[in-house]
This record gives sequence, structure tokens and C-alpha cells, in this order.
Amino acid sequence: MALVLYNTLSREKRPFEPVDPQRVTMYVCGPTVYNYAHIGNARPVVVFDVLYRLLRQRYPKVIYARNFTDVDDKIMDAAEAQNLSIDVITEKYERVYTEDMAALGALDPDLTPRATENIDAIIDMVSTLIDNGHAYEAEGHVLFSVASDPNYGRLSKRSVKELLAGARVEVAPYKQSPADFVLWKPSTDDQPGWYSPWGRGRPGWHIECSAMIRAHLGTTIDIHGGGVDLVFPHHENEMAQSCCANGAPFVGCWMHNGFLTLHREKMAKSEGNVLTVHELLNDYPGELLRLTLLSAHYRQPLDWSEQVLIQQRDRLDKMYRVLKTLEDVSATVGEPDPEVLAALEDDLNTPRALAALNQLVSKVAGLESDDDRAQIKGTIMASGALLGLLGASPDSWLEQGDVSLEAEQIDALLAQRQQARADRDFARADAIRDELAAAGIVIEDGPQGTTWRAER
Ligand code: AMP
Ligand code: ZN
Repeated sequence: MALVLYNTLSREKRPFEPVDPQRVTMYVCGPTVYNYAHIGNARPVVVFDVLYRLLRQRYPKVIYARNFTDVDDKIMDAAEAQNLSIDVITEKYERVYTEDMAALGALDPDLTPRATENIDAIIDMVSTLIDNGHAYEAEGHVLFSVASDPNYGRLSKRSVKELLAGARVEVAPYKQSPADFVLWKPSTDDQPGWYSPWGRGRPGWHIECSAMIRAHLGTTIDIHGGGVDLVFPHHENEMAQSCCANGAPFVGCWMHNGFLTLHREKMAKSEGNVLTVHELLNDYPGELLRLTLLSAHYRQPLDWSEQVLIQQRDRLDKMYRVLKTLEDVSATVGEPDPEVLAALEDDLNTPRALAALNQLVSKVAGLESDDDRAQIKGTIMASGALLGLLGASPDSWLEQGDVSLEAEQIDALLAQRQQARADRDFARADAIRDELAAAGIVIEDGPQGTTWRAER
């Protein structure tokens, strides 16, 4: 079956056609390494990891690059605030990020280029843009001239005027137009900087990705991904820089994941509502966090809650319990289940793929012959591997202990409590609340209804 992907640029699902099927290229914008990644930042990592696994299933060679932004004003501020050197900060958070993403079952990308190791490529691209009239130098800065690119705004589908109205753009005296953005900026002696034709300075964020993509993957890549907040300005600017410098199409398919929210608000450092992956991993297995991230379609919002985690935990417990019953047979080396595969090939429909995996697992109980059981075990394992799931031994998973009540039981008790309250039988409603509390489940009544979470 064809792999169909939604392209943010064309706003439609289309069969995926790599430029060279012998060498498929994918780039995902990585973190700025100055603090812990939150679980929203992990969403693109896990989503594009599933895509990477799927592409590797279909194509002989896939090159996946995810960068580290290791020069940025936020890093400089963090270093100053903590009285540490920039290198200490970036090395620490790069290491933590790599470990945390591995704990979520994400495969290492083939390439993890760092901005500071690609300064020559960046200077090269900025020079090209000046030479061909798309950029200009002003007061030690180099700026991209938005007016020089008639295609500017195509990705975010807004005119320059609308883009300016909706975004916070820095107005600066050295800009020919407020929409122009920085490719290179001057550094003071105490700031990190590199010698360039425009004096000692450092790159802007957008040019880093454009230059690293060209240096490591080529002028035209097949897939470029990130969260939906990157569409504008980051990806719009990357596209402008790369197309204008290379004179070639930049990206075959632009892909963007939706937001992970907490109480329906976008999770973001600026909102102060972040749950770091590092902390979550103290309380939950990485595989559970991964499954939860995959429980919604990647383009839809995903509201993170204890309730969703417990439901997904329940799902994993059930699957591992079934795998435990298959311990006596060795899995036949198998292909993924066609339904799981078909769901993923349909624009990475992970909720459908997970439902198909559940279906498959539920068939185990009816199988008697060792052959059939070995076969289905092989199919389950291959399907799980495609999603980056079910790789643990059933014993090690199940030893972590179940929550004392399962999600369905909790929901049923909540429905009974609701009814008791509607009947004004408050003694009964309180008794149910106490019963849940005794099982470590805290319930909260809010305007949206009642929610629950496990107390730890
Ligand atoms: P940042 O460190 O803000 O540049 O984000 C790193 C990656 O995480 C980017 O691809 C962002 O689009 C993505 N991202 C940031 N916040 C969220 C969120 N709440 N939900 C989903 N993706 C996010
Ligand atoms: Zn980028």
C-alpha cells in the first residue's frame, strides 16, 4: 500500500514520493539545549520516531537528522544565571535530552548536527544569500530581505502583512522592513562568536537548520518535521533561505504535530505549565509515556492527564499479560500486522494502529496450536516494534505493579457516584469517593465534570 502523508504546504494528504527511494531523507528540528525537555517537546520526537521506523520498513536507506541548537541567547542567559560556562550547560542538557528520548524508546537519529560545528556551512549560505540579492548587511547584522522572495508566506498561507500583524517581530533601525529576519548578528567580546566577513558574530536560529540540512542531507529533502508552532516563523524562514540560496525545491513533505496540552492549555515554558520528561520518568515507565504520546493522532491536540496515563497503563498491562501467556513459544520471525501497517501508512494514524494491535492481541486467547501461537507472537512483536512498543519482557513489565483499580472500574464507580449525587444520596456518593481514595484514586469535581488521578 502507498504511504500517504499530510503535507502542511499543500494542506492535503498525498502519496509519499521520495526524490530518491534509495536514500530517503528526513530532518526534524531539535532542542535548544539549555534546560530539560518537557513532554510536549517529546511529542515530535516520538511521532517522527514512528515515521522513521515505518520508512525503514519500506526503504533500503533512510537518513534521519535531528539537530541540537547549541548557540542561542537563551543558552547565554541560562549560563549567566547559573554562573556556568555555555559548554557546561549545552553538554549537560544535550546528554540529558539524549538519555530521556532514548528512555521513550526513540531510536537515535543517524545524524545529530550541532550548530556550533557547522559555522562554516552557515557563513557559506549567508554569503550566497547576500551575493544573490536576498540578504543585506547592516550594522554588523545580516538580514534576509523578505521582499526579495515572492514565495514568502506560502507555508503558513498568510501574506507578509498578516504575518507581521500576528507575530511578534523585532523592529530594529537596521532593518529595511520589520519582516526581515536575522541571519547573522554581532557578538560582544564576552559572547560566543565566530569570525565572519561581517565581523565577529553568531548565527540566527533559522539559518542554522537551513545550512545543516544542506551540509548533511542535501538541497532537497523528503520530509521536514516539527511542532505546529514552528510553521511560522521558523519553517517559513527556513524555506525562504534554502529556496533562495539553493535555487531548488527544499522539502517534499512538511509535517507538523499538534500541541500537547495540560488542562487544554498548550504546554510551554512560557506558560509555566511544563512537566519535564526527566521528572515524569521518575514516576512512569518510558514505554507508558510513549504509548500515551501515540494515543492521539499526531495532528490532533493531546491533552495530558493522569487519567489518560492510567488508561494507557491499563492497555499496556493487558497486552503484556497476554504476551506472558505466550512465553512458552518462540515467536516466528514475522511481518507487522497488515491492519497496523495500513493505519500507519494512512498519515501515521497511531490511534487506529493501536486499536488494531489490541484486536490482534485479543485473538491470542482463542488459539490452541503452538504454531498459531508462535505465528501471532511474531506478528505482535513486529507490530509492536514498528510502534516502538512491547519490547520489554512481560515479567519485568508486570513486576512494576498494577494500579489497584483498572480504568474501567474507576469510570464505572464515578458514574455510580454521579448517579448517587443526582439522586441526592450524598452518603453513597461520599462512600464511593472514600472507596476510590482507599485505592489511591483522587477525584476532582470541576466545571468540565469529574476527573481522577492516581495519588503517588
Ligand atoms: P522548542 O524547544 O520550543 O523549540 O521545541 C522543540 C520542539 O517541540 C519543536 O518541534 C516544537 O514545535 C515542539 N513543541 C514545543 N511545545 C510543544 C507542545 N506543547 N506540544 C507539541 N509539540 C511542542
Ligand atoms: Zn529548524
